[in-house]
Amino acid sequence: MTKNIEGDRWIVRTNYLNRSSSFLIMFAVVGAQMAVRGYGVLAWCLVALLFLVYPHLAFLRARRSATPHAAELNNLLVDSFLFGICAAGLDFPLWICFTLFIGTAITRVLYLGITGIFRSLAAIALGVVLTVGFRGVRPLADTEMSAVVLCIIGLSLYLLSLANIAYFRTRKLLDSRAKLHVSEKVLHEANAALQSQLDQIQTLQSQLSEQAHRDPLTGLYNRRYLDTAMARELARCQREGQPLSVLMLDLDFFKRVNDQFGHAAGDEVLKGLATLLTQHTRSSDVACRFGGEEFLVLLPNMSLAAALDKAEQWRQAFAAQTVLWDGSPIRTTLSIGVATFPEHGQTQDALVRSADQALYQAKSAGRDRTVLYRPD
Ligand code: GH3
Ligand code: MG
Ligand code: MG
Repeated sequence: MTKNIEGDRWIVRTNYLNRSSSFLIMFAVVGAQMAVRGYGVLAWCLVALLFLVYPHLAFLRARRSATPHAAELNNLLVDSFLFGICAAGLDFPLWICFTLFIGTAITRVLYLGITGIFRSLAAIALGVVLTVGFRGVRPLADTEMSAVVLCIIGLSLYLLSLANIAYFRTRKLLDSRAKLHVSEKVLHEANAALQSQLDQIQTLQSQLSEQAHRDPLTGLYNRRYLDTAMARELARCQREGQPLSVLMLDLDFFKRVNDQFGHAAGDEVLKGLATLLTQHTRSSDVACRFGGEEFLVLLPNMSLAAALDKAEQWRQAFAAQTVLWDGSPIRTTLSIGVATFPEHGQTQDALVRSADQALYQAKSAGRDRTVLYRPD
């Protein structure tokens, strides 16, 4: 258990105030009884020692102790024991006995709960037994009227002071709870703000990594992405015994388009081809801008025949496509080289080289056509 030093000090301080003030009142009560009954100097000295000096000694003892809380609980037992001696020494006047017993019992219940009362009663009994044993049994004494009045006043003041302490402690507890509630709310809000910032950062990060993989003009994948995607797809197709087709596309006489209509018009033609490819590829395909006006499309799990078919469809669709520039129609054609794993290459480089050679053959054969790679 962690040591609550501040709480210990509070108990010692509060008890000191309670004990010294209530013992002062009890000195008046007992004094009123003794004055009428004519006790000797020794009795007065003992009573003065108990009610006026002892509370300060008890405080010093608790304050110097390494365990102030435990020391203070022991002090409460000493109180009970001394009250037992005092009650027996005065021959048990009812009101004084009641006030002493209830005072010490309530104080122990305050710190230890109702079970605290038992050790208090035992300490009182010990004080009584020792005193009666020392002095012998005597007839019970009546309480003097002045002592009765002081008992009532003293007990009332003591109970009011305890209620007041309880009130302040409760209020402090409620204040602390309210502050804790506010702190929790602030923490919650800060947490939510942090979470939303994290979400924003994550969105930005994924946007950034997406941008890093894309060609800014056409929006297709760039070569950096192709390298990783092709390595991954080739390894997977090898593992699963699936074909992987590679299409290399190049615009025919594209330089002329630039020369005739300008670079911006050429860009529009490039974007037109990119749109066609994007619209007619599967999500598993990878369409990438390989160079200036060269494109490469990876078709995983696609056989040679199907890839040739696909290439022909794209070539024809692009040839039929017209880009309008300043009211003038621009028409261009495509040459496509096709190669497939495993027939035309086992590695990434070999496959790209085969597709490129097929493309070269398409160009040599007159352009606007699809050519399948042939090793010879
Ligand atoms: P071939 O049929 O033999 O492929 O002839 P070609 O004119 O298409 O080929 P060449 O390699 O002679 O010229 C390619 C041209 O593509 C030259 C270059 O200015 C143009 N080009 C490359 N990148 C871009 C681009 O981003 N935008 C535009 N508008 N033109 C580009
Ligand atoms: Mg070209
Ligand atoms: Mg070219």
